[in-house]
Amino acid sequence: MIIDTDFHTHPFQQKRDYEGMRDFAESALAKGLKRIVFTEHAPIDPAFGFDSRHYLDGREYDIYLECAERCRAEYQGRLEIGIGIEADYHPRNMEHVARLRKNYPFDHVGGSLHLHAGFWAEKTAGLTGDARVAYALDRTLELVESGLFTGLNHLDFFRWKQEDYAPKRHEERFRAVFGAMVKQHMSLELNTSGINKSFASFLPCAEVWRWSFDYPLERTFGSDAHKPELVGLARAEAQALFP
Ligand SMILES: [Zn+2]
Ligand SMILES: [Zn+2]
Repeated sequence: MIIDTDFHTHPFQQKRDYEGMRDFAESALAKGLKRIVFTEHAPIDPAFGFDSRHYLDGREYDIYLECAERCRAEYQGRLEIGIGIEADYHPRNMEHVARLRKNYPFDHVGGSLHLHAGFWAEKTAGLTGDARVAYALDRTLELVESGLFTGLNHLDFFRWKQEDYAPKRHEERFRAVFGAMVKQHMSLELNTSGINKSFASFLPCAEVWRWSFDYPLERTFGSDAHKPELVGLARAEAQALFP
C-alpha cells in the first residue's frame, strides 16, 4: 500500500483561521500527497468545564467546519481534502461525541485516549507501571467497542510519562484491542509524531505494530501535524512499515 494520504492533521492549532488551514493544504501539495484529512481536536463535552487552547471551543468548531468545506472546494482537482475530527475517549464524553457524529457527515473520526490530559487525572491518580498500561489498554478497548470512531489514533501514546513500558507484558490486551477493531471496521493509525517526543518512536511502537499484522485491519498514516511543515512527517520511514 502506497501512503498518499495524511489522515491526522491539526490545521487550526496555530493561526486558527482559514489561512492557517490553507498552509496545511499547500504543505500537503508540496509534499506530493494526494489527500489530506483535517482532524482538529473536537471540543470536549462542555459539562467537563475543561478549557484548553489545544481543543476547539464551541464557536471555533463551527468556524473550523466552514473553513474545511471552503478549503475542500478551493483545492478541488488538485488535492483531496477529508473533513474529520480527533475526538477524545472518556466515559463522560461519549454522548457528546455521538451528538457531534450525528450532526456532521465526517470522512474520518479518529478516536484518542489522552491519558495525560487533565480530565483523566482523577481516575489515574496513583496508577503506575504495568497497572497504568493495563488501565490504558482497557480504556482503549472501551473506546473501540463504543463504535463511535472510524479509526484509532496513536495506540500507545499512554507511554508518554510512563516510566516503564514493556509491551510484551501486555500482548494479550493489545490483541484484544485489534480483535475488537476488526469487528468495528476501525482503521489503525501509524502515527509518526512520537519521533519528536521523549520516547522517540512511532505510535504504536514497532513490536505492537507487528502484532497488528495478524489482524485484517485497514491502516492509515498520520503525522499529527500541529504545524504545516510537519504534514507528511517521516512518510518514507513509515512507508517501509506498511504492507
Ligand atoms: Zn492525539
Ligand atoms: Zn492529534
